[in-house]
Amino acid sequence: MFCGLTGIVWLHRKIQDAFFLVVGSRTCAHLIQSAAGVMVFAEPRFATAIMEERDLAGLADANDELDRVVDELLARRPDIRMLFLVGSCPSEVIKLDLSRAAQRLSKKHAPALRVINYSGSGIETTFTQGEDACLAALVPEAPSNPAGAPASLLVVGTLPDIVEDQFRRLLGEIGIPKVDFFPPRRSGDIPAIGPGTRFLLAQPFLGDTTLKLEDRGAVRIPALFPFGAEGTTAWLTAAAEAWNIDPAHVQRVVAPGQERARRALERHRETLAGKTLFLFPDSQLEPCLARFLSRELGMKLIEVGTPYLNKDLLSRELEALPDDVLISEGQDVDRQLDRCRAARPDMVVCGLGLANPLEAEGLTTKWSIELVFSPVHGFDQAADLAGLFARPLRRQTMLKV
Ligand code: SF4
Repeated sequence: MFCGLTGIVWLHRKIQDAFFLVVGSRTCAHLIQSAAGVMVFAEPRFATAIMEERDLAGLADANDELDRVVDELLARRPDIRMLFLVGSCPSEVIKLDLSRAAQRLSKKHAPALRVINYSGSGIETTFTQGEDACLAALVPEAPSNPAGAPASLLVVGTLPDIVEDQFRRLLGEIGIPKVDFFPPRRSGDIPAIGPGTRFLLAQPFLGDTTLKLEDRGAVRIPALFPFGAEGTTAWLTAAAEAWNIDPAHVQRVVAPGQERARRALERHRETLAGKTLFLFPDSQLEPCLARFLSRELGMKLIEVGTPYLNKDLLSRELEALPDDVLISEGQDVDRQLDRCRAARPDMVVCGLGLANPLEAEGLTTKWSIELVFSPVHGFDQAADLAGLFARPLRRQTMLKV
């Protein structure tokens, strides 16, 4: 299974002058290196400060060791402007206080470097919570919106640059005057946040970040998430409504993208329509995927499992699901496996730990982790998202032939 450290894979690509230093074990280092596929001679912007047995046994002062590692890192990489100290299971077990370490190191290296900490530990978390923890830790770094500042839109959630550029263009054409993205591409560009900020979530798993933004006075715009033609249209329309923009104008702007997405989805619909789908809880994207796959591609939902169900953030998604679908929260895997085996669905969406055993039982699976490694938001990625589900079914058909 993947833990919250996995988020570093997409977060480090996004914030281009940040470095992620995991304070963990060899297992943590191995997970990150295999998930990110690091080249030996590349200078990646993440690493693991490995805690040895003497650290874990309290024989060495872990704080001194950490300061030494950070000094070495900064001497070698003076371009780093933001350093994330990322906690892990081992650092939490020995109760290493990374927030104090971050304060100490920030003071020492200011103003060239800001040091922030968050936990990516796998203790009772799903792998997408790492991004939520990182972004929640980043909110206090944002300057405040001065009183009376004009309203601005903040898009929250890590998006590949190509998708961010598409959304920025569409939101600009719709007529929203100021649009910022969080996290930003450079750590010095964190946008101001305050009562004038209206924010749209791009990912459904950002519950803690949402609370931190609301504490700063920002107001969330409820919407479907921007997956598929329907979700993307609803997401953009919700932003336009918050600025009282003429719906006819919004429709004119979104129509070409909507049409491209619908046409591109047609070929996947041939493969997916009528096929049954069972989603195990893993990524927290499950309700959004279920809505997209059932409403735009005609799949029949058997069960939609999700590790946590934030009914507030997902209210629009839940309303869009069929009334008779079983939605399950949490991980009672044995009972879910029983229900899945009894239903024999055409496709199962699950984590890596379940995928191989289920494949061995003749079921077709899709790993949910792929959904956060690929650009899948927006009109022009809708067919790629559908393709992730259609491909295993096509392969299965070819193997049968
Ligand atoms: S943080 Fe925990 S779950 Fe994640 S790789 Fe390290 S030890 Fe494993």
